[in-house]
Amino acid sequence: MSVRVRYAPSPTGEPHVGNIRSALFNWLYARSTGGTFIVRIEDTDRARLVPGAEDAILDALEWLGLDWDEGPRKGGPFGPYVQSERKALGIYQEHADRLVADGAAYPCYCTPARLDAMRKEQQAGGRSPGYDRNCLDPTKAERARAENPVGVVRFKMPVEGTIVVHDLVRGDVSFEASLLDDFVLLKSDGFPTYHLANVVDDHLMEITHVMRAEEWLPSAPRHQELYKALGFEMPHLVHLPMILGPDRSKLSKRHGATSALHYRDDGYLPQAMFNFLALLGWSMDDATDVISREELVAHFSIERILASPAVFNAEKLDWFNGVYIRQMATEELAEAILPWLTAALPDAAIDRDYLQRIIPLERERLRKLSEAPEMLSFFFEEQPALDPKKLVGKGMDRDGARGAIEGALAVAEGTEPWTADALEPAYRALAESLGVSTGGLFGAMRAAVTGRTAAPPLFDTMEVLGRDRCLARLRHALGVLGG
Ligand code: GLU
Repeated sequence: MSVRVRYAPSPTGEPHVGNIRSALFNWLYARSTGGTFIVRIEDTDRARLVPGAEDAILDALEWLGLDWDEGPRKGGPFGPYVQSERKALGIYQEHADRLVADGAAYPCYCTPARLDAMRKEQQAGGRSPGYDRNCLDPTKAERARAENPVGVVRFKMPVEGTIVVHDLVRGDVSFEASLLDDFVLLKSDGFPTYHLANVVDDHLMEITHVMRAEEWLPSAPRHQELYKALGFEMPHLVHLPMILGPDRSKLSKRHGATSALHYRDDGYLPQAMFNFLALLGWSMDDATDVISREELVAHFSIERILASPAVFNAEKLDWFNGVYIRQMATEELAEAILPWLTAALPDAAIDRDYLQRIIPLERERLRKLSEAPEMLSFFFEEQPALDPKKLVGKGMDRDGARGAIEGALAVAEGTEPWTADALEPAYRALAESLGVSTGGLFGAMRAAVTGRTAAPPLFDTMEVLGRDRCLARLRHALGVLGG
């Protein structure tokens, strides 16, 4: 039987990196087995819906190249793939009705006030919380109904014994039935709960493996009973380990950005994020960390999913990003940087060939694309802002600096060819003839041609800037120093 897996996000907020990790593992499993990857939107909790969240989640998947075979924006033979649309077709009601008819579920008319009082009493008495089955008694249910006619539908759970759930990563996990109460299947607004909709859809969509975050493990015994009552075969379960911050508490905004789109917008490469997320709870061999998308597809297996929590280490992500930036072909990196440059420098006409010559000078220092405009701007500005103090090199006065820049200008006019290899000896000779240190001269020249104190190697930079730009900037520096 071929693998069918799904990512089933609830559109209740940003595409959290932990949630996207679930999508990635499902995608990897589908691609590594030649199976089908499905996206299903679980929007039955109407109170928690956030406008735009569904699009943000799908955008995050697209950014990471997690293409889905069936789902929203795409369709497929098991649609619709949005639960509110499925609800409109009566799919969940039909299953709830069947369970009631079979005696596996029952309507409950208890008012929120009664449930609240019940909870308080249980708490005060030190008993475990849970529905007290008031409405299982038809007489009591009728009485409650007079007050609260709409009600909900509850699933009848076993009251005693142990429910053993098998997880492919964790093995058998036991739950005390007495701690699991008769949960709601259909709410008073007619929408199904997560439990009902999730089980019905996983069955109807012929899902073979449910791979989701560990926080859903406590739902598994409920789902297992529900599968049984509906006469459905249960898919295999795989619960993915928790993701913690560096302080080993659950990853949250306190630890930094948690939205996958934040990382996209902050200049991270999708391939770096992809690699980083794949190692949050899985390992290829406990040693290799830089693993391409193709290798991940080739090596991914459920057996190597870890049960112990994974730590989200933002520094490691930065490191991955640097690695992938250095791996990119120059043209490819230029294309990736271009939109960042044009957004930051709207007036500069950015020439692709010029950009491609700049990239080798800056690539090593670049950790994320968002840093490119700040790092590269001086290559594109008409005239970088000049601080006259920076033009006066170490051990020089203003007159000395003027003499040095005048000399530099003459060398720039006369040196052939315009290459770093030719420029360097010419300028070393100039320092000697002026009787100044090379450090002093080169510092003043760096300030003049880049406007900065920290820049890539001076003569390589001058070669790429070109003779005309260097001459113009040196002349401007003379003007700034005053005649
Ligand atoms: N809608 C649930 C979520 O947001 C899906 C959990 C599951 O995969 O069963 O995570």
